[in-house]
Amino acid sequence: MSGLFDLSGKVAIVTGGGTGIGLGIARALAGAGAALAICGRRLEVCESACDELRASGALATACRCDVTSPAEVEAMVAGVLARFGHIDILVNNAGTTGAAQECLEIDFGQWRQTLATNLDGVFLCSQAVARRMVPQQRGKIINIASIGSFLPLPMSADYSASKGGVLMLTRAMALELVRHNIQVNAICPGYVDTGFNPATTERVLAGIGRKVPAGRIGQPADLSGAAILLASPASDYMVGSSIVIDGGVMLK
Ligand code: NDP
Repeated sequence: MSGLFDLSGKVAIVTGGGTGIGLGIARALAGAGAALAICGRRLEVCESACDELRASGALATACRCDVTSPAEVEAMVAGVLARFGHIDILVNNAGTTGAAQECLEIDFGQWRQTLATNLDGVFLCSQAVARRMVPQQRGKIINIASIGSFLPLPMSADYSASKGGVLMLTRAMALELVRHNIQVNAICPGYVDTGFNPATTERVLAGIGRKVPAGRIGQPADLSGAAILLASPASDYMVGSSIVIDGGVMLK
């Protein structure tokens, strides 16, 4: 039983792993035994996450990478491979909230930026990593989607469209990559308390919490179990699945 969730000897990349949900998942994977590569645009944020992971006994390396750039993604993946020799797990977590405007107000530049980060980034990282996973005939790709993949969230046409795309990309890549023993699955969080929206105050958080059937907003650690499941041998027969972790929001 213990081997089912054991990640000893595995190497995981977490995009946007320096903060919020990504950092929570990086902590969880490190706790299960994985070595971590943490990437994002702010190297110092990734370095500080790696310092914390190393202090708890994990192997960790930081890489600067903008997931919207094919060249930077390729360099990041090549660098991780050179450092660790293999890549077993990719967590596509890097994301942006988007315009937070009604659809009539969103300008095309903002639309492109949201789609580039939330959807192109998932495609670019998945393709670059999966090309390395195919020769080893094993791998796990975990996409951080959203309840916005299923429901149109208010003032979020760009965000919801991007996350709907992530869900379908998860299924499409899962279908093609399963023959290489690469499992692609998604986690769909509800409202999670991170720095995602810097304007969010304690009062707003409490207000969101009251709307959640579970009675509170989620914390990054609420996603830890699902992340370990989807990274580990326990999910070897999960192909294109999406795990909703939202405290019951989607049931209302
Ligand atoms: P954060 O803002 O804490 O995390 C976003 C991370 O993504 C940052 O570390 C950021 O680092 C990185 N990032 C953003 N753009 C890029 C880019 N172009 N290239 C590389 N890295 C990038 O927010 P969360 O932890 O809340 O969000 C993480 C994921 O979870 C997102 O995909 C989000 O959509 C999803 N999610 C969040 C929910 C929530 O309620 N918080 C709910 C549902 C889903 P840097 O700026 O240094 O690049």
